Amino acid sequence: MLQIEKDKGAIYFNNDDGSALKKTLEKLVPSSIFILVDSHTNTHCLPQFLDKTGLKDNATVIQITPGEEYKNITTCLEVWNILSQKGADRSSLLINLGGGVVTDLGGFVASTFMRGIAFINVPTSLLAMVDASVGGKNGVDLGTLKNQIGIINNPEIVLVNTSFLNSLPDNEINSGFAEMLKHGLISSKKYWKDLQDFSLKNKEITNRLVWQSILIKNEIVTKDPFEKKERKALNYGHTLGHAIESYCLSNPSKEKLLHGEAIAIGMILATYISSEILKFDKTELSQITQIFLKRYPKVNFTNNDIEAIIQLLKHDKKNRNGQVRFVLLRDYGESQNDSIVDNALIFSAFEFYKNFTLN
Ligand code: NAD
Repeated sequence: MLQIEKDKGAIYFNNDDGSALKKTLEKLVPSSIFILVDSHTNTHCLPQFLDKTGLKDNATVIQITPGEEYKNITTCLEVWNILSQKGADRSSLLINLGGGVVTDLGGFVASTFMRGIAFINVPTSLLAMVDASVGGKNGVDLGTLKNQIGIINNPEIVLVNTSFLNSLPDNEINSGFAEMLKHGLISSKKYWKDLQDFSLKNKEITNRLVWQSILIKNEIVTKDPFEKKERKALNYGHTLGHAIESYCLSNPSKEKLLHGEAIAIGMILATYISSEILKFDKTELSQITQIFLKRYPKVNFTNNDIEAIIQLLKHDKKNRNGQVRFVLLRDYGESQNDSIVDNALIFSAFEFYKNFTLN
């Protein structure tokens, strides 16, 4: 079994004998155990989880509706109420069994219920395995503005088991893979290249690359848990990506994008801007754009859409004194935080995206 040991937030990878959870339960001795699922993970992941852990008769299941549009304070209220009605106390434990929506929202609910109860993340989507469940960022959206309400607090442990990926739809695999591609861009060209072999058909490759992504994310968040410096690199592509995601969520005429699909567009735009400001290699920019556009849907943005997306940037959490700050790349693995980018260059980046033709 692969693992990353730490006092809080240790990560266990394919711990098939269940020893990590057993040890944690022995340490915590929870007064009661709750498992948060959405209806998809209830169907596809909960039976396997209960079977393996023997928690069938010892846990209360709380189900929420799947989807980003339910990652909000109304859903938190429902979960807080159920915890309260079912007699949860400060020694209760919440196990978040699901994708990034369940781990983000469940972590926030647990961190605030009775000023904080213990929680464990069991990520079931690729995105949650390589990104959302690791690093202690928990929270919910405010209207369509992403992750505006939240807290940084680590789970007791994270239990990653790639067998959950067997039931994950292809578009959700792609969405998670976008965050792995981000790890490639911000860490090294070698990892970016290795990622081009990613295929769920090959378990050995899947496990190796998923674990590598977890290591990259973990190394960064361990160095800088509160996002003062290094952790900002993990926002690569997210400044415009989040604004695009919010815009498409709130605009009925636009197709709703999955998180990774929006971030993929954000990374193309950020790499173009990097090539203009930091001289990121233009040939690499073109190859990177090919790779993203082969995997992710191309969205048609009008000038009005772009104006509205730029307006949404003012809610980005990296802003200071009203100025939007971008993470840019000089090269693979060489990021520069807090770059100020003018609107004209953002428009040019969208033009580049719109006019790009695939080989
Ligand atoms: P999600 O939780 O909505 O899961 C995607 C879909 O897959 C859902 O319909 C879910 O029910 C389903 N699903 C999950 N596991 C399944 C399985 N094994 N089999 C079948 N269906 C399954 O979304 P996501 O893509 O996992 O995560 C996106 C969220 O993560 C966003 O809200 C994003 O903001 C957040 N995020 C957080 C961090 C962080 O550091 N906290 C980092 C990146 C992203």
